[in-house]
Amino acid sequence: MERTNRAKEVDAEVGELGDRNKIWQKETLKVDPEFFTRIGQGQAPKYLWIGCADSRVAAENLIGGKPGELFTHRNIANMVVSTDTNMRSVLQYAVDYLQVRHVIVCGHYDCGGIKAACSVKDHDLPLESWLSSIRDVYRLHKDELEAIDCDQERHKRMVELNVIEQCLNLFKTSDIQRRRRYTASRPDEFPCALPRIHAMVFSPADGILRRLNVDYRKHLGDAISIYHLYDDPLLDDEVI
Ligand SMILES: [Zn+2]
Repeated sequence: MERTNRAKEVDAEVGELGDRNKIWQKETLKVDPEFFTRIGQGQAPKYLWIGCADSRVAAENLIGGKPGELFTHRNIANMVVSTDTNMRSVLQYAVDYLQVRHVIVCGHYDCGGIKAACSVKDHDLPLESWLSSIRDVYRLHKDELEAIDCDQERHKRMVELNVIEQCLNLFKTSDIQRRRRYTASRPDEFPCALPRIHAMVFSPADGILRRLNVDYRKHLGDAISIYHLYDDPLLDDEVI
């Protein structure tokens, strides 16, 4: 095939997206004629979703969601890195302006980012720099991980531990603590300290989203006083 024709085929791949959008837009209007009028007026999502950039784990797909339900940030291996101004800006906007009630960190099994970080290979910058934060998680849980004989099971546990560590990183941020302190001190207005932080893992192999328990006291241990930015007992009594 001539190169011009092959180039046309490549262009058609993008044209297909527009065609699929037209079908989706029509189908959506059939079910709910006012849908776009409604979401065109603004957003008020309950959830901030921090997920992996992997093409199989788009948040709305996993929960059968619609536009307007999730404020989303995605990066390689769903990391919460305190110096990442992209993630921090999303978090600040979600917490302070959208006032989301839940922040979800969702990892997934068969995660290429986790696998790359656990391999002995230099992936070059900037990827290598990003992976170093994941390697820190491995170092923190080395004993538990290396006691697992099966490679696949070790990978799955690493995915789970990484999600838990990213939830802890969220807890350490001033954005989360400030908002939780504010909401906890107003029981008439808010049912509990908000936003709640949740750890989840998706399995591409069976399509199931699982929730993980995170014991913040156990994981942060004695160091909790270092990360606890506000000296407020209301935070101590609350389940994160
Ligand atoms: Zn991934």
